[in-house]
Amino acid sequence: MTTEYKEPGPVLDQDNPFESMMQRFDKAAEILQLEKGVYEYLKTPVKQVTVSIPIQMDNGQVELFEGHRVIHNDILGPSKGGIRYAPDVNIDEVKALAAWMTWKCALLSVPFGGAKGGVKCDPTKLTQVELEKITRRYTANMMDVFGDDKDIPAPDMGTNEQTMAWLMDTYSMHMRKTVSGVVTGKPLLIGGSLGRREATGRGVMIVTLGAMEKLGMKPKETTVVVQGFGNVGSISAQLMKMQGCKVVGISDVTGGYFNKRGIDIEKAIDHVSKNKTLGGFDGADKITQSELLELECDVLIPAAKEDQITQKNAGKIKAKIISEGANGPTTAKADPILNDRGIIVIPDILANAGGVTVSYFEWVQDRVGYFWSLDRVNRRLERMMKASFDNVYETAAKHKVSLRIGAYVVAIDRVARTLKIRGIYA
Ligand code: GLU
Repeated sequence: MTTEYKEPGPVLDQDNPFESMMQRFDKAAEILQLEKGVYEYLKTPVKQVTVSIPIQMDNGQVELFEGHRVIHNDILGPSKGGIRYAPDVNIDEVKALAAWMTWKCALLSVPFGGAKGGVKCDPTKLTQVELEKITRRYTANMMDVFGDDKDIPAPDMGTNEQTMAWLMDTYSMHMRKTVSGVVTGKPLLIGGSLGRREATGRGVMIVTLGAMEKLGMKPKETTVVVQGFGNVGSISAQLMKMQGCKVVGISDVTGGYFNKRGIDIEKAIDHVSKNKTLGGFDGADKITQSELLELECDVLIPAAKEDQITQKNAGKIKAKIISEGANGPTTAKADPILNDRGIIVIPDILANAGGVTVSYFEWVQDRVGYFWSLDRVNRRLERMMKASFDNVYETAAKHKVSLRIGAYVVAIDRVARTLKIRGIYA
């Protein structure tokens, strides 16, 4: 065993999500004293595929889109991870998100490797017909990558149950049979799982309550701010409120919303279902995105996107607990600032792992052809989230590191040990 794995090179760019991920990986690798070759293997994606997606738009013109799928690692099993549709999708971001999926699955003991996909497009400016064409052509171009025992996509930012249904149908048409297990996060009618839609938010709630308990915080006396009001943010807000917490701030692309008496989350969800965004929501005062993150509160749940908590605002955050509903919302340079200030950060690979955990349940149900009750899904999710939270908490205490590094240590150790047992084929 040697610890000489550090690479010479330029100072890492904190806002490059892959480098941000690697800085945490390096710390955990040091604790684990990873062998140099294993270090290299675990940091490098096993496969990266980029495809062009020509689409005839509704106006008759042909437009070209770019799509990626990165398989970061498949030692623990078939690779798993969502597909993102967003204007700023790029290969570095997809690589970071794929690596996070590897650590997330390992941390939860879900028998999957990590992957991520993305198409550079603005789903808010595309029609349903155009979105369907993009999804089908992307899937057709990825036929050799996807597979129910190979690589299994799921929803992520900008994609949803309908996107997954088109993907499943396209894949199945090419295979000449229905393959429901090729994708998770599907509608119930075609093999989706009860509880999958709420799973990420439910997982956020479970681990946040776990951290609150450690600090002796009671839900009735706890105020919560949630950044992002998509699937993860809105459900997290709703479930935290149902636990008795007061949600004083929420936000989406239209800005932040603050009400110190507590926001009626059901009303906000209803507003979004009618108007698509929180724009015009009258149950709170309008504030800016940066004001939202710096609000007086006990729990902050960033559930929007990467790089929201940076070295610029980390010193101004007032929450005692940050629970990362999004992937990568805190940059590596913000970590020490938050740690020094005694703020507990429940890292993304733990906090938002409820989604992939119920994706695993969905895949199991599809393969067996027998579907579980909502109660069974939620009970099993809770058991797995709590066990992982305890594992991370104990590992962090043992090595005297943050929960984030504790989580990386647990995850990387599991992948490295599995690699050792499987051995290298050659
Ligand atoms: N996109 C989600 C995530 O980042 C879910 C992935 C999945 O269910 O495969 O965890």
